Amino acid sequence: MVKKKRYGTLIVLSGPSGAGKGTICAELLRQVDNLRFSVSMTTRLPRGNEVDGKDYYFVTKEEFEDGIQKDNFLEYAKVHGDNYYGTPKDKVVEALNNGEDIILEIDIQGALEVKEKMNDGVFIFIMPPSMRELKDRLVKRNTETKDKIIERFKNAYKEINEVTKYNYIVINDEVQNAVDKVKAIILAEKCRVDRIEDFELNNEEELLHELLTL
Ligand code: 5GP
Repeated sequence: MVKKKRYGTLIVLSGPSGAGKGTICAELLRQVDNLRFSVSMTTRLPRGNEVDGKDYYFVTKEEFEDGIQKDNFLEYAKVHGDNYYGTPKDKVVEALNNGEDIILEIDIQGALEVKEKMNDGVFIFIMPPSMRELKDRLVKRNTETKDKIIERFKNAYKEINEVTKYNYIVINDEVQNAVDKVKAIILAEKCRVDRIEDFELNNEEELLHELLTL
């Protein structure tokens, strides 16, 4: 019998703004058991129907900087301008220790910082089907000003060069297709021999006895 692994798996989903990682992440949380979302902390203001503690922990710049001082973040970065975003370390450690898988939906700078610290994580890059499609999605989303859209679009070109630092690339041509690919990656990763902590063949004597007394 193979002993069950005690620790959960860390999954990091990132990719340029508009690639659709948020939608994929939400679907994964609906479709995959034993998967927890890492709620990030941010200094940006809540949008529309975002809920504090569910979508993000919304805090002030002072509160965030206090967290930095106290070394509370697994990673943090300033994303798209002047707002801080960070992954609270305690929640990630707690989930992994409880044997739960945890998914981080974070930007590329943050993902690469996590990779430095937790190289056994699964790093997945979500790619738009084309840059034209990315541009159209950013415009259609209608959540940012024109200047912000241009900034995100320029960033996307730079960020795509980092794809080689990831373990997997998934092209988000159609949401369920992309979700199925990420689910297959998670499943395959959980079957990796180097993720199994221990093998336990605990009933050898009993089975041998049964054979000998046939
Ligand atoms: P938004 O403001 O649209 O919710 O997110 C902007 C960007 O910040 C997205 O690319 C998102 O993945 C990223 N992000 C969200 N949470 C974190 C985090 O904890 N750390 C980092 N580095 N990026 C994050």
